[in-house]
Amino acid sequence: MTRDEAAALDRADPLAAFRDRFDLPPGIVYLDGNSLGALPRRTAARIAEVVAEEWGRGLIGSWNTGWLDLPMRIGVLIAGLVGARPHEVIAADSTSVNLFKLLVAALRLRPGRHTILAAAGDFPTDLHIAAGAAETCGATLRTVPADAIAAGEAVGDDTAVVLLTHVDFRSGRVHDMTAITRGAQARGAVMLWDLSHSAGALPCDLGACGADMAVGCGYKYLNGGPGAPAWLYVAERHQAALSQPITGWMGADQPFSMSGDYVPAPGLRRCLAGTPAVIGLAALEVGCALVAEADMTAVRAKSIALGDLFLNETERRLGGFAVACPRDGAGRGSQVALCHPHAYPIVRALIDRGVVGDFRAPDVLRFGLAPLYLRYVDVWDAVDRLAAIMDEGAWDRPDHHQRRAVT
Ligand SMILES: *Cc1c(COP(=O)(O)O)cnc(C)c1O
Repeated sequence: MTRDEAAALDRADPLAAFRDRFDLPPGIVYLDGNSLGALPRRTAARIAEVVAEEWGRGLIGSWNTGWLDLPMRIGVLIAGLVGARPHEVIAADSTSVNLFKLLVAALRLRPGRHTILAAAGDFPTDLHIAAGAAETCGATLRTVPADAIAAGEAVGDDTAVVLLTHVDFRSGRVHDMTAITRGAQARGAVMLWDLSHSAGALPCDLGACGADMAVGCGYKYLNGGPGAPAWLYVAERHQAALSQPITGWMGADQPFSMSGDYVPAPGLRRCLAGTPAVIGLAALEVGCALVAEADMTAVRAKSIALGDLFLNETERRLGGFAVACPRDGAGRGSQVALCHPHAYPIVRALIDRGVVGDFRAPDVLRFGLAPLYLRYVDVWDAVDRLAAIMDEGAWDRPDHHQRRAVT
């Protein structure tokens, strides 16, 4: 494909107008929206308003004029993106903390069973938290290859809960939510999905696949800002009996009765722990509202087309790279990955030339494709600059080899 042909795709793109709703630095091709989503233009003004008006003028009275509703209000927006009913999602805490709450709650839903089943190589915090939740409950964490979970073989009589990330953070592989959920439930286990790399990037339908629980991240494709609050989903049928372990006052039925007994709130609000982080939630609300305006089918179609363009151009113009993600767009999340023995200095050289992707040990170059603000020409330019770096050998400079904390 030529650059002009890529530009023609941009002119025909039904999502093109969304790019201007983000505040992006000029000249940068940002391929890291799967790690930290870009800044919506409205966020700065909204945060200024929350600080100056709601906090500064409204003071404590603002809890009664919107703040207390924020977790459920954002939940409604996210529910629309993940196929949940409005009262089945709430924004709270971090993904890690929400995982802990729901893993323990799932173990309590299956008192005769004592195993958490998870995929080896899944996102580190998911496995660390699963190990911690298992230890807390006197249960065991069993990790098996994701393929064994996908094939339904690994769920046993002692499996209380199956934890799996829908889109693998490294390879971008997409799992079949319906088949895996049904397989786990047929063997008596609770199914808990991590949709951190899915919500806002590809359509998913927690209701249609019958999932029991889910968690997801607020700062990736939902554009909630660094360390944004995360969210969690519990199917309505489990809510009344749900017992989560972080029994803070904000999850109690009457937080302000100041009574000594903990009685959980009747609905999903019982999954709150302490006082919600209002400023972070306000930014998350802006990001979610923006994503909720987009047609997820169009988002998915563009995400696949961007990924195909990236991989086609890579194969046409570059030698020495192996494709480390599914080649077939339907089986791939909103990211592509390549393998190269010099992946780290190449990623650093790309960043130097304004193409921001990331490196995942040991040898993976990973590029997130956020369809709301990426253009086809951006992807074309990224491969073009990568080809130039390889032709010139520009990656092989001492400073590109120096490791930084976050790349
Ligand atoms: C990004 C991500 C997280 C993030 O967890 P935090 O608690 O926000 O640090 C967790 N799980 C997966 C699969 C992720 O992609």
